[in-house]
This record gives sequence, structure tokens and C-alpha cells, in this order.
Amino acid sequence: DHGLSEADPEVRAIIDKEKGRQFRSLELIASENFTSRAVMEAVGSCLTNKYSEGLPGKRYYGGNEYIDELETLCQQRALAAFQVDGKNWGVNVQPLSGSPANFEVYTAILNPHDRLMGLDLPHGGHLSHGFMTPKRRVSGTSIYFESMPYRLDESTGLVDYDMLEKTAILFRPKLIIAGASAYPRDFDYPRMRKIADAVGAFLMMDMAHISGLVAASVVADPFEYCDIVTTTTHKSLRGPRGGMIFFKKDPVLGVDLESAINNAVFPGLQGGPHNHTIGGLAVCLKHAQSPEFKAYQNKVVSNCGALASRLIELGYKLVSGGSDNHLVLVDLRPLGIDGARAEKILDLASITLNKNSVPGDKSALVPGGIRIGSPAMTTRGFTEKEFAAVADFIHEGVQINLEAKRLVSGSKLQDFMKFVASPDFSLMDKVSD
Ligand code: PLP
Repeated sequence: DHGLSEADPEVRAIIDKEKGRQFRSLELIASENFTSRAVMEAVGSCLTNKYSEGLPGKRYYGGNEYIDELETLCQQRALAAFQVDGKNWGVNVQPLSGSPANFEVYTAILNPHDRLMGLDLPHGGHLSHGFMTPKRRVSGTSIYFESMPYRLDESTGLVDYDMLEKTAILFRPKLIIAGASAYPRDFDYPRMRKIADAVGAFLMMDMAHISGLVAASVVADPFEYCDIVTTTTHKSLRGPRGGMIFFKKDPVLGVDLESAINNAVFPGLQGGPHNHTIGGLAVCLKHAQSPEFKAYQNKVVSNCGALASRLIELGYKLVSGGSDNHLVLVDLRPLGIDGARAEKILDLASITLNKNSVPGDKSALVPGGIRIGSPAMTTRGFTEKEFAAVADFIHEGVQINLEAKRLVSGSKLQDFMKFVASPDFSLMDKVSD
């Protein structure tokens, strides 16, 4: 049996190039991180070979004594990492990723075409929370369920809870979803609980982006108020690529969440668990209970604060005026440039971040903002000083965009382009026969 270099030098070379890119670039995508060598060792282990449909002690295949031990350990560590062990919470660690985890919850507690409300995607929500456009039901969530997104108050950049409440009373959703992909502030869980109770809805938090911050108690605790909490495992939590669903063990609104969710994961939507991922996740969740992890998450937040402060000093407008967590959302529209161009120029300089829509945007393809996150570079040891420097480099990139815009709209170039478009330079003449 050969190692990768011998067995497949082509794939080895691609991996090496990607590793080089990860080393060389400033990784500022808010949903990314660098997991540990220990996690990667577990993910790259023989655990990938085993089928284990079912749950520990109740499998459809033989030979699962060690897999049972592993999954039970992973579950125990998950509950401990989020301080809900002994508090009548359960967890399913088999979801393959964040979107499947969310869809599994929906199919567990809703009937087809039941109603749900999540934060609108152009206002920071995730596709899997029910995104649709006036023309198209984009996400499977909005195809199989009736989605009525709630939105931000565009003047503050904060969730418009008053409007959420009014809409919920009219729309009568069975599920309200907290959580976001591009929201720099905490959610008001007590307020959302009240709204959910007033209309008889389940309250779920998708903490994918901030699960590391939740585990370290540096942001508000969604477990206190929600019935169900879902997460990815590869963002601020810094684990392998996967998902988890936490649920209250006591029945909620007459539903036994434990059996409904476990059945939705398997056999509802998945087959065999990815045991290599569960192995990596168990390693990550051990680390998530350590003092170093708490210190890391505190740095994620303080580094993001330093980035936000420097951007504000440089004159940038941040959605909501700042950040309480690991990301900032910069509104570039006052400068007259868009997020797509800024992303492109910064990418050329190995500064990796993403274009993002900001409240009030007309187009999702050419959004007016960029999203910048601190988890990955904090893992690589950046402090507030380096993050302030990062803000300066982003500023330089934006200036280059402005220069390019000046060139494109400058009258000399405009005149020259008119000249190029004249019959003297007609392309049709040159290529027609
Ligand atoms: N939920 C939120 C809030 C997310 O931001 C994301 C991904 O960015 C997901 C769910 C989906 O996770 P995945 O890409 O693992 O399906």
C-alpha cells in the first residue's frame, strides 16, 4: 500500500499547492479556520472505513464496538463543551454538515409546507433558513416549507424584532430560526423566545458561525432559551467539516424532539455516519473545554474589535456600527464601489475574504459589502496589532479599486474607447471574409 505521493502524485501536488495558498494568504473568510493536526489525524484515519447506520448500541451493522465508544464519547464531549451535560439536553453528532443538520431539524418537527421564519439571506441569514427571491424558491427549505424571512432594521443594521413579532403574529410560523452567516451582533434570545411562545412556534438557533464563541461563553448562551440548537463544526469551533444538532430531551409542543431528530438524521435523510469526522469532532470538543480554547475565543473577539476600530478610523461604514463577535460587515457603497471588485483586488494580493450583501442592496451578484472574519488568522497567532495592519492593507486594496474606477470613468479613457469603437477599428471588417 503506497502513500499519496507515490500512489497519486497529481492529487498530492494539488494538495501541496492548496497548502501553500493557505500558508501564504491572509485568510479572513469568517466561516473558515485552521483545524489542528490532531483533528486531521483522526479525520484521515481508518474510521472512514466503517459502516455504522443507527446510534450507539443500536446499529444495523456488526463490528461497531469501538465506533459506539467513539460516538458516545463525542456526544458526551459535545454536551460538556456547551455546558448542557446533566441539563436534559441530547445531541446528534452525525449530520454531515450545517445545511443537512438544519434540513433534518425541519423534517423532524414540521410537515411539508408548514411555515418557518429565518433571517433573510441578503440581511445576513443563511440559504438553509428558507431563502427565496420574488421569482424563485432558491433553497430546498423554501421549496418544501413555506418561508417568510424576517429582516434587519436598515437604519440600525440590527434585527428588527418588532417587525418579526408583527409578522409572526400574522404568519403564525411553526418554527422561528435565530442565527446568521453575516451578522456582527448577538441575537436577542429572550425576545425571540417571547415571540415564539406568543405564536406557539419552536425556537431554533443555528449557531454555526459562533459556536466556538458560545462554547467559550464569550457571547450570549442560546441554550438557555432555544428548543433546538444546530451548528457546523468547522468554523469558529475549529473542528472538522461536519454538523451537530442539540435538542431538549423533554417534549416541546407535544413533540419528542429526541426521537424525531434522531429519526430525521437516520433513516430520514442520511445513511452511514462519517465516523472519521465524528472522531475529529471528538478531538475538537475535548480541546473546546480547555482554558487555551477560551483564551483563543476571547482573542477572536478582541482581534475583530481591533479590526473594526481601525476600519472605522479609516472612515469605513460598518453594518450595525461595529461587532460583538468574530466578523465585521463593511458597507462599501458610500465609496461608490462594490464588494465583488474589492474581493477580486484583495484576492490578487492574497487577502482572502468575501463579497457580501449589505442591507439595502439591490443585487446579490454585485453586493455592496465585504465580510471579514478573525477566527482563522487568530488561530495563526495574529494579535490586535496585526489585525489593525490588516485593516490598513484592506484599505490599500480599496484605494486601488477607486483608482481603477477613476481610470475607467476618466474622460480620456472614455474618449479613447469611443475612438476604438469607431469604424476604423471595426472588428467585423477585420474578421469577415
Ligand atoms: N448555517 C449557517 C449560519 C452558516 O453560515 C452555514 C455556512 O456557512 C451553514 C449553516 C451551512 O453549513 P454547510 O456549509 O456546512 O452546509
